[in-house]
Amino acid sequence: MTSIHAFWLAGRQATGEESFDVTAPWDGGLVGKVSVPTADQVEEAVAAAYAVRDEFAATPAHVRAAALDHVSRRLAERTEEIARLIRAENGKPIKWARGEVGRAISVFRFAAEEARRFNGGEAQRLDTEAGGQGRLALTRRFPKGVVLGIAPFNFPLNLVSHKVAPAIAAGAPIILKPAPATPLSALLLGELLAETDLPAGSWSILPVPNEAMPPLVQDQRLPVISFTGSEKVGYAIMDSVPRKHCTLELGGNGAAVVLADWASDEDLDRAANRIATFSNYQGGQSCISVQRVIADAAVYDRLLPRIVAAVEAQVSGDPSDERTDVGPLISEDAARRVESWVDEAVRGGAQLLAGGKREGTSYAPTVLTDVPADATIAHEEVFGPVLTVQRVAGEEAAFAAVNDSKYGLQAGVFTHDVQAAFRAHRALEVGGVVIGDVPSYRADQMPYGGAKQSGVGREGVRFAMDDYTYERVLILTGL
Ligand code: NAD
Repeated sequence: MTSIHAFWLAGRQATGEESFDVTAPWDGGLVGKVSVPTADQVEEAVAAAYAVRDEFAATPAHVRAAALDHVSRRLAERTEEIARLIRAENGKPIKWARGEVGRAISVFRFAAEEARRFNGGEAQRLDTEAGGQGRLALTRRFPKGVVLGIAPFNFPLNLVSHKVAPAIAAGAPIILKPAPATPLSALLLGELLAETDLPAGSWSILPVPNEAMPPLVQDQRLPVISFTGSEKVGYAIMDSVPRKHCTLELGGNGAAVVLADWASDEDLDRAANRIATFSNYQGGQSCISVQRVIADAAVYDRLLPRIVAAVEAQVSGDPSDERTDVGPLISEDAARRVESWVDEAVRGGAQLLAGGKREGTSYAPTVLTDVPADATIAHEEVFGPVLTVQRVAGEEAAFAAVNDSKYGLQAGVFTHDVQAAFRAHRALEVGGVVIGDVPSYRADQMPYGGAKQSGVGREGVRFAMDDYTYERVLILTGL
């Protein structure tokens, strides 16, 4: 019989009365059974986090940094085991799963470094005006309170780390809710946190079902909500608690622009390979996947066949095979949705140049051109291995095409022209512009987040710490 995975309630393991199954997207096999906390247990975790908040905020930086360093080290030691768990519950190919563990190792290390640096404080002289004579202001940041972190399925370890590590670094207790499809990586992270001296109550990992979330979202003892997931759920949460501080890391339909100067055979091969890789990695289930290629007419005809060839060269299949580039989608429903959007575009006149086939939870890497503007795939986030390629005349039209989206997470611009890079930075309505590459690059210490409906606020370790804290000024008089 499969044993039931306990959850983490105030830093220790606990089980509730019910459980749910976590199944492998690749073959439907049972990966584990996860215990669900009861309403009383959720209350216990919230009460413990609330009670410990002042003590946690006052925990010395070296203690919090040592705990974060410990988790980083232990993730490194257990990389292979954790990567296999991510592969099993999420379906991502093993090579990408190892990469995800590597990212989480960095997140905890960055958080340890930031914990040591954070809150050094700033002194400001106030005697620049007569009323401030003899006064000095000292500014320090203090936690807003307990953080409720809500994580998606697509990076079940690293996006959980992006909530937990900055909270510990900032001295803010956290209640973390992992995605129902992929809670096991988060629960394993709990094992590493439990090896540290962090105060009981400062962290809980609770696989609460979605329908039981509203009371937690509403709870006034949790003033900060850090959400990563879909636009629909994120805005529904924010709209339900307009007076709370919400960070929303939402979806996108990332664009890769290829400008006219990116024109040598070598340039075009590189762009095609990067585009093919990063429209398909994680089965396209990354918020910064390449979904839209916007190519200048001067290079379009030479780029398109290269993209098609590179997409067809992607190896789909069993995520445990070292050669696999593209694994299954998270569920058959997700694959059927992608299929229906591609079919709709083709019915409307789009040309299908590669892929377009579903088998169970898997969808073949797909390339479309001539997509009608009213097709769903032209304006929504596909979150699957599908590329649309569009021809434009000139840089201005290319940038306008990028901005012709309700989303604005990141964009990539293939150009050698440094002036064009600055123009892109100014013109593109996104949270990040990547020059010379696809939009799918994220460094875990940099500010990361969206413009428009891709979200509100920024993550990236220090930026999340800023988000979880606020400035409180101490004004000294009589100096
Ligand atoms: P989702 O919105 O379905 O779920 C996200 C989380 O919200 C899960 O933990 C889910 O259980 C929870 N949830 C669902 N209903 C809830 C409710 N009523 N109250 C509280 N919590 C609730 O998203 P998903 O399918 O897990 O993830 C995919 C989405 O995440 C995509 O849109 C993707 O672009 C986005 N994403 C964004 C980023 C980013 O940093 N911007 C990163 C990764 C993924």
